[in-house]
Amino acid sequence: MTKKHILVLPGDGIGPEVTAQAVRVLQAVGDFRFGYANLGGIAFDEEGDPYPKSTRAAAHKADAILLGAVGGLKWEPLDISVRPEKGLLGIRKDLELFANLRPAVVFEELAAASSLKPEIVAGLNIMIVRELTGDVYFGEPRGIHTNKDGSRTGINTMIYHDWEVQRVARVAFNLARKRGRKVCSIDKANVLVSTEMWRQEVQKLRDTEYPDIELSHMYVDNAAMQLVRNPKQFDVMLTGNIFGDILSDEASMLTGSLGMLPSASLGSGDTGKCAALYEPIHGSAPDIAGKGVANPIATILSVAMMLRYSFDNAAAADKVEQAVKKVLAKGLRTRDIMQEGCTAIGTVAMGDAILNALEGK
Ligand code: NAD
Repeated sequence: MTKKHILVLPGDGIGPEVTAQAVRVLQAVGDFRFGYANLGGIAFDEEGDPYPKSTRAAAHKADAILLGAVGGLKWEPLDISVRPEKGLLGIRKDLELFANLRPAVVFEELAAASSLKPEIVAGLNIMIVRELTGDVYFGEPRGIHTNKDGSRTGINTMIYHDWEVQRVARVAFNLARKRGRKVCSIDKANVLVSTEMWRQEVQKLRDTEYPDIELSHMYVDNAAMQLVRNPKQFDVMLTGNIFGDILSDEASMLTGSLGMLPSASLGSGDTGKCAALYEPIHGSAPDIAGKGVANPIATILSVAMMLRYSFDNAAAADKVEQAVKKVLAKGLRTRDIMQEGCTAIGTVAMGDAILNALEGK
């Protein structure tokens, strides 16, 4: 059997530090072929483009992609068209990665790190499915126009096509079938017609193809409240791009640490291009880059998602997740999740500890 090919895009800031530990974990649980390429600020510095042609070609051929993070102060003065974030949006759009999966899971050992009471978040396990390639972020017309009278108008367009809603809703329903069989679809159908259509399409798909799934609909403002009032009511939350951007960050705070949360961005694979990119939800953390203190767990849990969704290897994914739990239970912590009575360790030592746990040590 040919080895699966994983393209690693370490990116900027702490990206190279955390992806290095995740690669060690992948090497411990499977036999993969790794390739490396530039994305983000480093790609601009070395190749003059945040998503260079060489990276694009490598991305199209890979079976799965592991990304660290992009961005940093150094590149902020650049024109928006070549900023590191453009590389990220570029690769998502190019590969048509339309479904962003963000689990918000609270490890028992870290329940006290949440800003909410431990009893509200202990045992929390939500999956947020955010549409990633449509909505106001990509809708046309867009831009800032100067009018004849000298006043200015800024425009973005909230737009969804029925097929875009259907394909991401299908991802949410399929995931729900492997979890609690509940989907809550988030919209603002009372005032935004594009989301009124969203609601109709999601309901239609559920009625025709997923009658076994319990579907509810909720306005986004209420969802933002419910997430902090009673987050455990949710199983899978399905949402559009802009609502998902905000709600998934809110959900991440329920768990107490950015350094713990993985994500997956999935496409259909129908186009023949790579259909999945995995990355931690945090950024490049320039404030701690190069210091060896970054938490690699979000990236390591991202490769657990890779094993589960791209390589259909739930057993290996479970093993990695259990190894992380074991290390937390031992009281080992990076600085960002440090608690009284625990032992502070750095990025590489956390990687070592997880590898030891994988080997049953
Ligand atoms: P950030 O997520 O990089 O950092 C926020 C805070 O969390 C910082 O104090 C940082 O030290 C801490 N932190 C983040 N990840 C950590 C980890 N693994 N271990 C320990 N601590 C961690 O967000 P920011 O500071 O707003 O952004 C920094 C840069 O990252 C910006 O250029 C931004 O555009 C970029 N960014 C990139 C992505 C991405 O690549 N997907 C996402 C968000 C932000």
